[in-house]
Amino acid sequence: MTLEEKAGLCSGLDFWNTKGIERLGIPSVMVTDGPHGLRKQQEGADHLGLHDSVPATCFPSAAGLASTWDRELIVRVGEALGAECQAENVAVLLGPGNNIKRSPLNGRNFEYFSEDPFLASELAASHVQGVQSQGVGTSLKHFAANNQEHRRMSVDAVIDERTLREIYLASFEGTVKQSQPWSVMCSYNQVNGEFASESETLLTKVLREEWGFEGFVVSDWGAVNERVKALQAGLELEMPSSSGIGDAKIVAAVKSGELAVEILDKAVERVLAFVFKSVGHRKEKTSVNQEEHHALARQVARESMVLLKNEDNLLPLAKSGTIAIIGEFAKKPRYQGGGSSHVNPTKLDDAFAEMKSVAGASATFLYAQGYELESDEVNDRLLDEARDTASQADAAVLFLGLPDRYESEGYDRTHLSLPESHKALIDAVAGVQGKVIVVLSNGSPVEMPWLSSTQAVLEGYLGGQAFGGAVADLLFGVVSPSGKLAETFPQKLSDNPSFLNFPGEGDRVEYKEGLFVGYRYYDKKEIEPLFPFGFGLSYTSFSYSHLRLGKSSIQDSETVEVTVTVKNTGNVAGKEIVQLYVSDVESSVIRPLQELKGFAKIELQPGEAGEVTFTLDKRSFAYYNVKLGDWHVESGEFSVAVGASSRDIRLTAPLVVHSAVTTAVKFHRNTTVGDLLDNPLTADKAKDYSSIFGLESAMEDNPEMFLAMMKYMPLRALVNFGQGKYTEADLADDLLELNTLAGRD
Ligand code: BGC
Repeated sequence: MTLEEKAGLCSGLDFWNTKGIERLGIPSVMVTDGPHGLRKQQEGADHLGLHDSVPATCFPSAAGLASTWDRELIVRVGEALGAECQAENVAVLLGPGNNIKRSPLNGRNFEYFSEDPFLASELAASHVQGVQSQGVGTSLKHFAANNQEHRRMSVDAVIDERTLREIYLASFEGTVKQSQPWSVMCSYNQVNGEFASESETLLTKVLREEWGFEGFVVSDWGAVNERVKALQAGLELEMPSSSGIGDAKIVAAVKSGELAVEILDKAVERVLAFVFKSVGHRKEKTSVNQEEHHALARQVARESMVLLKNEDNLLPLAKSGTIAIIGEFAKKPRYQGGGSSHVNPTKLDDAFAEMKSVAGASATFLYAQGYELESDEVNDRLLDEARDTASQADAAVLFLGLPDRYESEGYDRTHLSLPESHKALIDAVAGVQGKVIVVLSNGSPVEMPWLSSTQAVLEGYLGGQAFGGAVADLLFGVVSPSGKLAETFPQKLSDNPSFLNFPGEGDRVEYKEGLFVGYRYYDKKEIEPLFPFGFGLSYTSFSYSHLRLGKSSIQDSETVEVTVTVKNTGNVAGKEIVQLYVSDVESSVIRPLQELKGFAKIELQPGEAGEVTFTLDKRSFAYYNVKLGDWHVESGEFSVAVGASSRDIRLTAPLVVHSAVTTAVKFHRNTTVGDLLDNPLTADKAKDYSSIFGLESAMEDNPEMFLAMMKYMPLRALVNFGQGKYTEADLADDLLELNTLAGRD
């Protein structure tokens, strides 16, 4: 292979294909968006092809998928997506996206799973597993810290290392380790002063050397800043085509000696490994059963919706009487987000028609438009009509949410409000109707100052092409709602932890809230969210009992099994999402009050009980210790809590975890007296220091107070205050003795 051919393989042929080399029998393969449906550009469409792609099943976007908390179901979605890729000869589906939801304003939150890295990594791993089981690759994106759209191609995300590791990298880490995506897509932005596309730390040290990633790294479209630097950092494939510019830079750098040819060879090897893997897995002439995939999309949409409010069990609705359906979204659904993930659906349910069909002939349906989709302005004529319609019905179902222009790839929201026209509609209808049910279509949380004017709220997220059918199934109780929130809904935007520093100043955004993202913050600050992380109602109820741990104490190299019994105590079948949170009871480092470390979904008939088992390992108890450069468990007691949401813990049990690794450093002249008092091996000697201050009597009279006052004294202060009674030589002798006593010599 010539140098030019090698360089050529490191960038695309065009927008969506890799380069082939005919004389060497290297084919060109196609990569395309993703993530919750295939967006394969039609022949001859404009190069972005945003609204001109081949028909494909549009599943709920990741925000909805995440609310299913259902690994197996997401694997099935992945399998369907993979099958659609095979039928269209697509080698890689560009997704899933797995950035953390730092702020609800992020225009692309609908494409991401969660504010919690454990939940996000588990669900993205299922997505990857499903797609790749069909012999089609995925591209886990956008690595890393692409948590806003504002200035996404230039902004520098400034994040301390512990936060980066525990929150923003962790969502990728779990997915890479579990599912080995064929590729990882590096993000546009900078991380701590370096473009992600040029970060050797991210692309090579962390991704490959620490996590064992075996695939290739592709740039987000246009994310390459300096091609040679990016190649050196570990970015193999530049997309889209650089029209030969990047290739020429690589050739020149090898010729001048700036770039070692071995680095280029390695990159070529990785790109070729992918191309031939894809060819090897290619299934010729397959086709897709679109009806089956639509039915799956409906099932997934049902499981992804979250029932937020259901006063007096207003839902499910009876399949009789008169029901007013109000709001244009009932007939023109908002079911997906804008930008590169925009799918051309194979068919599209309309909620009005689906509700009629599910309810059957005994129910009468009325309809009013309620608002204009294209405008935020309140239209009095439409409000009057809505009032009139609602007053003739037994209940009113309002289809509300965020119009397309409110949230999309490419820009962020500036507020969390519904359009004025939607809010006015709630007021108008609530004035004449006592049974108001709101169905929301939105990709990310909205504020709900209007909540008390409604009796029921169903969060539909962006439910995909079968949104309408799924809503009908849930409202009429064909199945019970089972989705739970994978993100916190704040009362108001300013409650969100990133509020003071989002989206930053110019090209710099500092993640000053650190680890305290989502529920980690609301819990610690004791802020009551509108709806907490993990929350979701059902038409039935569940009891929790018999929490048991396999052991009461473990070494951190061991695992422990946790089992709980869950019973359906209501009258209808339902699914419960059981959540496990871990807390470090006492810690010398700042930690969240609790962190999600396990979850499972169980289906139970009325009266039926079942067991759920979780396995916890070292990582379930660890924090990232920057000094060690590793995950570390502080020996001591932990609390294992199991519940129905982050704010509905039903059972807890203690567990002691021992670590073989100590972070203790040798005592030194600035070690404090308090540090010695805390250690049982050195406490007695520390107490004697009262005499150096000539304060033995104070120590005798009120030892607690005296020790409290003395605890922040560094040992060298004994020399400062000892007035000659205690010398530097005494201090040196004592340090030897103290380190021996504590076993730190
Ligand atoms: C998006 C990616 C997408 C790519 C190709 C970029 O602008 O950030 O998510 O996969 O375009 O469409």
